[in-house]
Amino acid sequence: MPIFEYKCNQCKKEFEKLVFSGEDKDIFCPECKSKDVGKKMSASSFMGSSSLGTCATSSSSSTGFS
Ligand SMILES: [Zn+2]
Repeated sequence: MPIFEYKCNQCKKEFEKLVFSGEDKDIFCPECKSKDVGKKMSASSFMGSSSLGTCATSSSSSTGFS
């Protein structure tokens, strides 16, 4: 399940939301109802991608990213 992290640019609240493909256009802050939110990459779905370096993509090309 694609769970994304968002951060509200108005009240700075961070929250997670389960988002299905194509349904991330109506995300709003649960605190202030603002739609001025920024998406962050979920740590669970991109785990280790930042620490493995630049050559990591060659060995992980079969992960089926769709
Ligand atoms: Zn907010």
